Amino acid sequence: SEPIHIIGGGLAGSEAAWQAANAGVRVVLHEMRPHRMTEAHRTEGFAELVCSNSFRSDDAANNAVGLLHAEMRRLGSLVMRAADANQVPAGGALAVDRDGFSAAVTKTLEDHPLIELRRGEVEGLPPEDWGNVIVATGPLTSAPLAEAIRALTDENALAFFDAIAPIVHRDSIDMSSAWFQSRYDKVGPGGTGADYINCPMTKDQYDAFVAELIAGEKTDFKDWETNTPYFDGCLPIEVMAERGVETLRHGPMKPVGLTNPHNPTVKAYAIVQLRQDNKLGTLYNMVGFQTKLKYGAQQRIIRMIPGLENAEFARLGGLHRNTFLNSPKLLDPQLRLKAAPRLRFAGQMTGCEGYVESAGIGLIAGLYAAAEARGRELPPPPPTTALGSLLGHITGGHIETIDNGPRSFQPMNVNFGLFPPLANPPTRKADGTRLRGNEKAIAKRQALSARALSDIDRWIADHLRLAAAA
Ligand code: FAD
Repeated sequence: SEPIHIIGGGLAGSEAAWQAANAGVRVVLHEMRPHRMTEAHRTEGFAELVCSNSFRSDDAANNAVGLLHAEMRRLGSLVMRAADANQVPAGGALAVDRDGFSAAVTKTLEDHPLIELRRGEVEGLPPEDWGNVIVATGPLTSAPLAEAIRALTDENALAFFDAIAPIVHRDSIDMSSAWFQSRYDKVGPGGTGADYINCPMTKDQYDAFVAELIAGEKTDFKDWETNTPYFDGCLPIEVMAERGVETLRHGPMKPVGLTNPHNPTVKAYAIVQLRQDNKLGTLYNMVGFQTKLKYGAQQRIIRMIPGLENAEFARLGGLHRNTFLNSPKLLDPQLRLKAAPRLRFAGQMTGCEGYVESAGIGLIAGLYAAAEARGRELPPPPPTTALGSLLGHITGGHIETIDNGPRSFQPMNVNFGLFPPLANPPTRKADGTRLRGNEKAIAKRQALSARALSDIDRWIADHLRLAAAA
């Protein structure tokens, strides 16, 4: 049979290739690196993580992205398997050694008998004789392909910014003022409860720091980059600072759940956290410190932080383009472009946000394409699951308008807000006493999560074994 061509060997394309091949369908996976690099990728490895090394919370019972991890593991996800095998300690989060992770994904794809890896940029719409194609070229899709898709859809793919956070050499951090501790001493997979490096600030230091962030020299906007909205989850630190002097103290610099052992009686006014970035523990990234400050200003201002006075940087923060489709309008529920159904989309281009989400949509796109190659149609996972709710966000074409206005489509991380509400939200504990305040919210999340896991299991049993047997 004809192979499925997949364009882009990132998080989504790698997972899609693995899923389709495991369903017994041949795959050709096209990746332009190293011949052509993106503004953010540094290697030629598949599934390279371009910024943070975190897959975020691994808590399936209480957190939507943790739940997505669990669903993907049940579906045999390559990305999750490689992440689990390359964990580094990170409190309640699942963080990975980025090189080990990418190497594991690359090796598995190389070794699969049904997968052919082809290096080279696809410089426009894929040729007709490729048949059904998955486009998973990500937020930094190369220009000729992006232009071709834009022309085909007659709908401007939006471009906006993501900014990357600086990475600091561990041995340049002054531990006589900084200390190791996870917020609320939380112990996660492979963690110790002391996985983050914390740098405390007094009010005076904080105020001076915020003033410098606002005054600091920023990278210029290019013409085509102006008037593009930031995505709220990834605001540059100086943009947060501009929103108000307290914004950072309530965001990435919040001082809660941490006690400074060098000065236990004085509460820090603000705290900067750094998270382990590689397995060796030699590199730490500045959590939430994505920035478009110019390199000189960045170094000078970051070195105002106690503990980072002599910080040496493995990578400074930067600014990058992001491309995504207006998917609710353009894609059908099978992630196919309505205007050209042989093109199926996956990953961040579809308007999800994040490594795990991109891989999750890649997983579904791979399964859809494999079913289609066998003359079947795989129904979407139930909307009550993390995968299904994310797909609903992306392909919810039936809600093109909200309150009589056009639906504004923005990329989104998976979150419980995307899930259909519970028919009977919990009101009592197992012992019959009433749930109060926050207990109710926790019980609700846990019930949503339990419902999701049982529904994904049923969907797998009903559809995937059949598809494999056919
Ligand atoms: P990618 O992983 O980018 O994969 C796309 C692949 O397609 C790349 O390998 C690229 O080389 C290739 N390609 C592009 N065009 C062509 C072509 N024409 N022909 C052949 N190959 C092509 N998410 C997080 O969860 N945490 C973060 O910290 C984070 N930081 C980010 C920082 C930046 C600067 C950007 C841009 C995004 C960030 N994201 C982050 C968002 C997003 O989750 C990741 O970008 C994720 O990698 C998206 O997965 P993907 O598979 O859709 O795209």
